Amino acid sequence: MSRYAGPACRLCRREGTKLFLKGTRCFTEKCAVDRRSYAPGQHGAAAAGKGGGRKMSEYAKQLREKQKVKRIYGLSERQFRNTFEAAAKIPGVTGTNLLVALESRLDNLAYRMGFSTSRRGARQLVCHGHVEVDGARVDIPSYRVQPGQEVRIAASAREMVPVKVAQEMATRGASLTWLSVDHQKFAGRMTMEPTRDAIPTNAQEQLIVELYSK
Ligand code: SF4
Repeated sequence: MSRYAGPACRLCRREGTKLFLKGTRCFTEKCAVDRRSYAPGQHGAAAAGKGGGRKMSEYAKQLREKQKVKRIYGLSERQFRNTFEAAAKIPGVTGTNLLVALESRLDNLAYRMGFSTSRRGARQLVCHGHVEVDGARVDIPSYRVQPGQEVRIAASAREMVPVKVAQEMATRGASLTWLSVDHQKFAGRMTMEPTRDAIPTNAQEQLIVELYSK
């Protein structure tokens, strides 16, 4: 199945929570989840009118959690499944391994380091060749960055408005303990793989493990 290319806000409304897919807009009163906190489509509005939908089965909860996390990181079904299967093969807690693999993607790190206000934007930066790893251009969003490698915005892209806006926001935001970012140099490193506690996400990864273990 290919990657979803429709309206991003629809995905948040479907999951009933903010997935922060649209950068600065997500922090304004224009956020669709804040304005219409029910699922999209006539059934969503009808369910909201009746005070909510049916009680979810365990399977439905697991499925929704998988969809939510997949959408947050912007992966297709196949990519997400492959990432999970790779995570299940290495020692440790599979759910944590999955999140660490997702966090180590180049597009995610460009977002986390504050070079874009959204993962979608970061993905575009990577695809268009504006991101370098250890001095070499890498245009593969799923590239797994290793601790210690330097991620840097190419000199030619540093004057781009979206990059400047993201930088301005990032310098005002909280930084993550496992990242070291030099905003003056448009560069950063993942100093170590994050522990579960250090990954800022409300994902319930155990539900995804249960879903794929059936
Ligand atoms: Fe989701 Fe952001 Fe749209 Fe709000 S503005 S619904 S958080 S993508």
